[in-house]
Amino acid sequence: MEDYFRAIGEKPFRAAQVLQWIHQRGVTDFDAMSNLSKALRARLAELGEIRPPEIVVDQLASDGTRKWLMQVDAVNRIETVFIPEEGRGTLCISSQVGCALECSFCSTARQGFNRNLGVAEIIGQLWAAQQALGTETRITNVVLMGMGEPLLNFANVVAAVDLMLDDYAYSLSKRRVTLSTSGVVPALERLAEVTDISLAVSLHAPDNALRDELVPINRKYPLEELLPACKRYVGEGRRKVTMEYVMLEGVNDTPAHARALVKRLAGIPSKVNLIPFNPFPQSPYRCSSPETIARFSEILQKGGLITTTRKTRGEDIDAACGQLVGKVLDKSKRHVRIEAATR
Ligand code: SAH
Repeated sequence: MEDYFRAIGEKPFRAAQVLQWIHQRGVTDFDAMSNLSKALRARLAELGEIRPPEIVVDQLASDGTRKWLMQVDAVNRIETVFIPEEGRGTLCISSQVGCALECSFCSTARQGFNRNLGVAEIIGQLWAAQQALGTETRITNVVLMGMGEPLLNFANVVAAVDLMLDDYAYSLSKRRVTLSTSGVVPALERLAEVTDISLAVSLHAPDNALRDELVPINRKYPLEELLPACKRYVGEGRRKVTMEYVMLEGVNDTPAHARALVKRLAGIPSKVNLIPFNPFPQSPYRCSSPETIARFSEILQKGGLITTTRKTRGEDIDAACGQLVGKVLDKSKRHVRIEAATR
């Protein structure tokens, strides 16, 4: 923004002023920016626009979880979820329209892929959610765990994250912003060079054979590359990577899988977050029973791994993990490919 103001022959400190107007005061009209000269306001209105994503559906779940469907262009819609908890409010945002990866247990994958979201469309979800929530409810945490693979939209995600952390915008602490990735190793290496926000990795399996099947990008970046990259990301300090592990009945949830996971994560500064599988129409899996999840968790904890089980939220409005679908005009032709393959 400073570069932008310099480029149009204005003082760079205008950047901070305009950021505050937009992100802290929710102003979308340049004319309301009273600490700018009338001439500059008119000029900005000519040069640009402040256009947040438009909320087209606003749903409230029985547990207080709220989901918005946001229109980002004529044909595409994305979803954003707010999860209120005691003492904090977490916003789950999307990074792409659909997803190009083909994780077998995720309903976003079924939608196919259209395009990356721009910086404004990513930060705009935070803007629009904060406006919808009003001043009483604060967004204290952001997780990049909505639709899409954030590391495949690297530059835009990083720029939006910078705004989340910026004192003139949302001033969130880097510990309260979490990027979740399926494991795009080269991009993860680059991420470490530009930021140190919290990292979550969709692990889901203790070995390559099973992970190849569940998270196909593993065929390109197997565990021998992913886990050392995770270790390098957190560095020497006390930070840990959150390993996400979806509990699929009879697939990855046996005591043997748990023991293999303990071995696999030895020496990797990590904690495990077990995610009860959320079903969606025609999903080939079922969620592990609460007893199986409890036993799995116990083996991990006995093996020295800090383990938590994610509480499923917003199920009644399909707002839970892996249930976000929006409306994606698929350009990947995946459906055609899948049909051809199964014919
Ligand atoms: N592409 C990124 C961001 C999506 S995060 C990633 O893969 O990490 C969404 C999280 O929910 C991921 O850990 C994903 O594996 C998990 N998930 C996907 N489908 C799910 C489902 N049906 N039930 C539970 N968790 C699911």
